Amino acid sequence: MSSVPKYITAKWWEISDRGKILCTLCPRYCKIGENQSGFCYIRKNIGGKLVTTGYGHPTGFAIDPIEKKPLNHFLPGTTILSFGTAGCNLGCRFCQNWSMSKARTDDIRSLNVSPETVVKIALDHNVPSIAYTYNDPTIFGEYVEDISKLARQAGLKSVMVTAGYIDKNARADIYQNIDAANIDLKAFTERFYYKLTFAHLNNVLDTLKWLKNETDIWIEITTLLIPDENDSPDEIKNMCEWILQNLGEFVPLHFTAFHPDFKMIDKSPTPLSTLQRARSIALKQGLKYCYLGNVHDHEGQNTYCPQCNTCLIERDWHSVRFNHIINGKCKNCGVDIRGIFNNL
Ligand code: SF4
Repeated sequence: MSSVPKYITAKWWEISDRGKILCTLCPRYCKIGENQSGFCYIRKNIGGKLVTTGYGHPTGFAIDPIEKKPLNHFLPGTTILSFGTAGCNLGCRFCQNWSMSKARTDDIRSLNVSPETVVKIALDHNVPSIAYTYNDPTIFGEYVEDISKLARQAGLKSVMVTAGYIDKNARADIYQNIDAANIDLKAFTERFYYKLTFAHLNNVLDTLKWLKNETDIWIEITTLLIPDENDSPDEIKNMCEWILQNLGEFVPLHFTAFHPDFKMIDKSPTPLSTLQRARSIALKQGLKYCYLGNVHDHEGQNTYCPQCNTCLIERDWHSVRFNHIINGKCKNCGVDIRGIFNNL
């Protein structure tokens, strides 16, 4: 593997007052003093310049089913090369990946992998796409930008799995060569975002509207339902109404089950009945595709035709048993099924 320096000069920053640097990559807008790091740990002020220690230093690679991202309407049944780095720009108390997200690049075993090598790994393993995932890829945006550009040239797709907490100028750069995104809409109240993630709901909604209105990127949404925090029928209803009004009825919505982790070990895992209730609300509100994750639920895993209700993709956990979408249409009634489909 070709070598990458320990850090490179970052994009998206400006000089601030008293020798500090203002990072303009995400809405946290950290002001960072000499030799200090921002909230996400991997962006640091060295010698009056902002550098990123994430570029070229993933924590490892995996080849996952694309359904694990989760994406159910983007190349179903294929695999995807997946990686992340140390650090994160959110502070979720329920983080299910905290050994990475709460680590600095030096604290965790990080590799040394150039963008060219990432693309080569995907090609060598014959996977059609690359996922920037595990921690939040916003914070290693320079690396995403370079890899996704090369990936597109090589005929590979790129997928962001992210909380969508990103500044509007930076996102225009980072998403230029992205094909699909799963946005973690963590809840639909500012109380939840502020108290449990140290971020803000409106910035995430703004990213979702931008993706829908100003890009061709395929989007799906995931909400981890946490008992008594974001699972009330009213909150689910409000969220679905917002999605319908702003993103339309065809955006797939995934409700996934929480398990106690990190700083939220006092809560019970999400009951299956809560997830099923949320899915019923979403479908009743008018969303056409709603899925359940981290649980076994036959109906909640499959894709049904929104017109004739034929089961078009049957899944078992992350594997696809059959796919009856032909050229992007229901094989029974011929209606368009939204997404980017292959025929297996
Ligand atoms: S990307 Fe990191 S350093 Fe920059 S504003 Fe966000 S949390 Fe702070």
